[in-house]
Amino acid sequence: MIYDVVVIGGGASGLACALRLVQSGKKIKIAIIDAGERLGKKLAATGNGQGNISNTNMSPSHYYGGGAAFAAKIACADPYQGSRLFDFLFTADEKGRIYPSGRQASSLSDCFMRKISSAADIFLSVKVTEIKKGFSLRLSDGREINARFVVFCVGGKVQKQFKTDGSSYALITPFGHKITSLYPSLVQLKTETKYIKPLKGIRADCALSAAVDGKILKTVRGDVIFTEYGVSGNAVFAVSPLITDKRNSSVIIEFLPDISKSVIKKNIDERKQAGCSADELLSGTLHNKLGRAVIARAKAEGGEIVSVLKNFSLPVFGTLGFDYAQVTRGGVDFNGITEELESKYVKNLFFAGEVLDVDGDCGGYNLQWAFTSGVAAAESVLKRL
Ligand SMILES: Cc1cc2nc3c(=O)[nH]c(=O)nc-3n(C[C@H](O)[C@H](O)[C@H](O)COP(=O)(O)OP(=O)(O)OC[C@H]3O[C@@H](n4cnc5c(N)ncnc54)[C@H](O)[C@@H]3O)c2cc1C
Repeated sequence: MIYDVVVIGGGASGLACALRLVQSGKKIKIAIIDAGERLGKKLAATGNGQGNISNTNMSPSHYYGGGAAFAAKIACADPYQGSRLFDFLFTADEKGRIYPSGRQASSLSDCFMRKISSAADIFLSVKVTEIKKGFSLRLSDGREINARFVVFCVGGKVQKQFKTDGSSYALITPFGHKITSLYPSLVQLKTETKYIKPLKGIRADCALSAAVDGKILKTVRGDVIFTEYGVSGNAVFAVSPLITDKRNSSVIIEFLPDISKSVIKKNIDERKQAGCSADELLSGTLHNKLGRAVIARAKAEGGEIVSVLKNFSLPVFGTLGFDYAQVTRGGVDFNGITEELESKYVKNLFFAGEVLDVDGDCGGYNLQWAFTSGVAAAESVLKRL
């Protein structure tokens, strides 16, 4: 069987690509091949099951990697571009995060299936194990299929339960494509735990800064959750892209971001004068365990309590790794890719999504890239058909 287009990978980018091809109205024989048992399995798990597909605040500063400028060009053009692939409504929350109005990520995968399944051949639970120029694709069950165009949408290296274990990059390196260094991003951080051991399980609303070589790169407001290895929580995910690939980094927690240093200091001084014991000076002001940890650290380091509370820094030793991250930093080097998302080494081989050297911030930026690049790759293929 010869297909006009074979999309390898039925995740967010592959499905967007296939849908655009289907909607072109052209008579095209399309196949989607996915290693998972159903299409869009990861997509159905995104945004804590609610599917945060984009963000009203789209700007180039939210993208990283060698393809960041290119990604920004197509992803930032219209925050709602991805949403137009679907036939239902979307709403944005107070942080600009765009979700299906029914807040169900599985509705995204279901919609793709509804629109694609009768117009494309779908191969599930089978991996492409070799791509020969021309194209002939070998599948893990021994079958071989042929295609005029291939769109490579195999995702990255995070969370191997979604069949994205990083093994598929090797399918295109024989053609000369380089893979940049890979790191987990949007991920929990391993930090110094000396002062936070008793805090395991505590969540605090903080201002959290990421610093590299002592220089603060970004500060966000959100939850920090203390764990046995370091810190987690939405604020941690949000700063992780700034430090995942850096050495000599730290996070700085500001507790009580809405109360000024002078107000807290005055309160501590008044409590001291009233005879409050040293260990209890922050009780009621902070969660008791947090208060005691701050006071213990101030004592151990000879610092002022309020300074430690406002500047609780933790050296970062690394991340929790690819199995826990939401996205891969790094991927197929953009030097080998044209503006049409085509390989510079193999004609009619196109790319989209996380497999490329592009990653985005937390907040819908990665799905927006996956959808818009999938559509862009489909447009490029359509021009040739
Ligand atoms: C838990 C979680 C939550 C997330 N939440 C959000 C969110 O709310 N908002 C957001 O913007 N981003 C989110 N992301 C990131 C986002 O899901 C990904 O960046 C996006 O899915 C990437 O799309 P993709 O098509 O490039 O790859 P994927 O969606 O990962 O799809 C790749 C597909 O390729 C298949 N595949 C791989 N190799 C082969 C092969 N050799 N043969 C056949 N098939 C193969 C896999 O089975 C997989 O289905 C989240 C990620 C995770 C893990």
